[in-house]
Amino acid sequence: MLFEENLFPYLEKTDPEIMESVSSELKRQQNQLEMIASENFTSKAVLAALSNPMQNKYAEGYPGKRYYGGCEFVDQAERLARKRVKELFGAEHGNVQPHSGTQANITAYLAFIEPGDKIMGMSLSHGGHLSHGHPVNFSGMAFDVVHYEVDRETRMLNYDQLEEQARREQPKMFVAGASAYPREWDWARLREICDQVGAYLMVDIAHIAGLIAAGVHSSPIPYADVVTSTTHKTLRGPRGGFILCPKKYRKKVDKLNFPGTQGGPFMHVIAGKAVCFREAMTDEFKAYQKQVKANAARLASHLMENGFDIVSGGTDNHLFLIDLSEKDLTGKDAEAALENAGITVNKNTVPFDKESPFVTSGIRVGTPALTTRGMKEEQMDEIGSLMIKVLENHTDENALKQVREKTLELARAFPLYE
Ligand code: PLP
Repeated sequence: MLFEENLFPYLEKTDPEIMESVSSELKRQQNQLEMIASENFTSKAVLAALSNPMQNKYAEGYPGKRYYGGCEFVDQAERLARKRVKELFGAEHGNVQPHSGTQANITAYLAFIEPGDKIMGMSLSHGGHLSHGHPVNFSGMAFDVVHYEVDRETRMLNYDQLEEQARREQPKMFVAGASAYPREWDWARLREICDQVGAYLMVDIAHIAGLIAAGVHSSPIPYADVVTSTTHKTLRGPRGGFILCPKKYRKKVDKLNFPGTQGGPFMHVIAGKAVCFREAMTDEFKAYQKQVKANAARLASHLMENGFDIVSGGTDNHLFLIDLSEKDLTGKDAEAALENAGITVNKNTVPFDKESPFVTSGIRVGTPALTTRGMKEEQMDEIGSLMIKVLENHTDENALKQVREKTLELARAFPLYE
């Protein structure tokens, strides 16, 4: 019986090379300290949902209105996912079909505005995402884009400056949300600005969805025309996206997702999303998100107390940026040295960066994955000291080796998928 079977021996037998990659990746995840702010470890229940027979099913359309027969059970799963996501975020409508965050954004743009219209999104180098209007992305190719930036002094958003820019530029859509912005957003003020200039307010909560679901970050739902997200970052679900909107926009959002920008939905992933939303309603999940924030704040403080420049002077969420401009190394070198020492982060541009995006002057640090392993403030202090040792001795092989031993010890003390 499929449900009692361990499926991995089949993979091993049919394709030992892929099995080898998969088991090496599992070991890497188990043995490294994962601090990429956009990553997390799903529960075993979500992993199980991802490898279920719904993967075999075509289900173009929506529950009750499909273009294929045999959809009664995938309909059940999608209905549950929709019901749960609406309840979790207090939204009137939810579409759980987007394959990814980028695809959710494509749908959201095209549901509200036309190619050639003006959008105003955060600049990539100040924390925005490629899909917020970067020239190499669909959003930058299809729309007339103006970017906003953080304030040079505070390295936070200045809403008076945003208002002035929006009045000058008159965008059709304002895109809020980011991949590397450590501060709370003022949704009410953004709504006011959008109302003044007649713009739609789209909010991409991909990074902070888990925090919002748990009530430890304010929610844009009462203010936004459309909210897009991923399920795999702080929300700790399968890779994928979803869209939330008021009922009055339901039809156009659904139509633009299918048939507008996607074909058949990934029904096994939708089952995984439903599991993730259910998990996110628990008290345990709320406590987890609180700890994610507490851990990020503690680690940022530890680094600041030791002379590191944290962009904007701290964090209100799950991530922060270390600005290394005044130190003797680039983001690229810092990422490589930390990786050698067992700590995975990503290099990241910092606001007003003088280095290219391939080199950068910063690294982005996040606590969702470590917190899933059960780590708390005490471990953040220890990891902070290990990071400092690496960053201050990045060419010293011996120092990196010593830190590697410590990070491995920590990883083993907080086991994953055992
Ligand atoms: N939106 C934001 C704010 C993101 O940070 C990301 C990914 O990092 C995305 C969208 C895109 O998500 P995906 O990689 O699923 O396309």
